[in-house]
Order: sequence, then structure tokens, then C-alpha cells
Amino acid sequence: MMSPETQRFYTAYRLQTSIIPVYLLTALFFTLGWYFNPLIPGRGTGLMFGGVVLFLGISRLAGWLGFMLSRVPKSVVQPDADQAAKLGRLGPEGGVPLELRLVEIGNVPFLAAGGGIAPLVWLSTHSLGRLSEEDLRCLLEHERAHLRQGCSFAGWDFLWLLPWPLGWLLAAEPLYYLATAILFAWAWLRLQGWLRWREELSADKAAANACGRDNYARAMAKHLAEFETVPGSPLRRSRLTALGLSPTEIDGVLQD
Ligand SMILES: [Zn+2]
Repeated sequence: MMSPETQRFYTAYRLQTSIIPVYLLTALFFTLGWYFNPLIPGRGTGLMFGGVVLFLGISRLAGWLGFMLSRVPKSVVQPDADQAAKLGRLGPEGGVPLELRLVEIGNVPFLAAGGGIAPLVWLSTHSLGRLSEEDLRCLLEHERAHLRQGCSFAGWDFLWLLPWPLGWLLAAEPLYYLATAILFAWAWLRLQGWLRWREELSADKAAANACGRDNYARAMAKHLAEFETVPGSPLRRSRLTALGLSPTEIDGVLQD
């Protein structure tokens, strides 16, 4: 089950990397769509549209900035002798070694890929200590798949242009326009969650191919156990089901 410490960490983390950036961007774009709207006579210039197209990709940039301002990059530590030895044994034979950053964030599970230009994997000292080398090797295959995916949902960024037609449609109804802004932020967060879920499943499949389905299932179940918030393990069950395990197999994995 998720510990209170992990819960606190991830609440702050999601605020910083997702919720706050999305609401700030929504405020920015809907303000621009209201005051600089070439569709409405007398409210700004056509140049504005071109300028806004340059903003595409800004939501990912904002998420990255949120991450850089979060606790994670500030908590990078040098591995001690034992940790360095364990990390050294994780490199796949013949594979490209991952650029890995060890972070000390308390007893919080953390394993994530990212880093924009330079591909990086972030791993908490807690997860390094708790998971076996076998498990970590499998989980790193999952992160490697994320790094290969890169920015897969750039097309959705065009939705950030929605404030302009909405501003034009609702030019006489500022309150409705404000309501659509709030709805937009909510829907964008839902969309991000859905896209991330799909990316998780495809990274799971890639990792299962790389290190064996049953090995990967066990490693994932162990890592995700610390993210379950309700009894019945719905998170692990849905991910294992998507991986192709039968209910009986899932029960076996969860009992380990
Ligand atoms: Zn993932």
C-alpha cells in the first residue's frame, strides 16, 4: 500500500509537474484568445495567431519546467560504494548503458525516464535498495521504452488553439468563456492521464518482450505495490491484465 510519505510526495509532484502548469497555461491561452483574437473585429492582430502556433509544445515544456523545479532534480546524490556496485551490475550486456541519476527523496519509490535532449533515468535510493537486480533490470527496460517513445502526442497540442474559436463564439458571453477555460484545463488533464496510461501499457509490453513476461510481471507488481491506494490491487491487476496475464496468473504474481 502507498505510505503517507509516498502519498505526500506524489501529491506535490503531480501539482508541480502537471496540475499547476496546465492551469497556468490555460489561463495564459484563454487570456490571449480573449484579448488578441483575429476572429473578432477590433480585438488584436492576425500576427497573434502565428505567434501562438510557436507556442505549440509549450505544455510539455511547462511539465518539464515543473519537474526541474520539483524535489527530484534537487535531490541527486552520488551513490555510495554498495549502491555504485549494484548500479554497475544493472547495465545490460551489450546494450547501451542508461544515463542514471540516483535521488534521495526519503522512503519513496521513484523510477522515471525523461530529460529532453539528454535521455535520463531517475531512480530513488529507496527503490534501488528495495528492488532486486533482476527486478531493476526489467523495470529499466520499461524506462528505456519510454525514452524510445519520445514525445508521442504532439498533435494534441493543437487543442491549445481552441481558445480562439471559443473566444469568437462566446465573444458576448465572458462567463461562458471562463467556464470553457476551466473545462478545458480539466479535460486536458484527463487527456494527459489517458495518453500516459497508453504509454505505460506500451512500455510494459516492450519491457516484457525484453526480459520475459513473467519476470517483468513480478518486477512491475513489486514496484507498483507501493502505489496502490485501495485494497484489491486494482492498479496492479489492470496493468497485469493489459500485459496478457490471466486472473489466475495475476493471483499467483500478487501472492509472491
Ligand atoms: Zn512508465
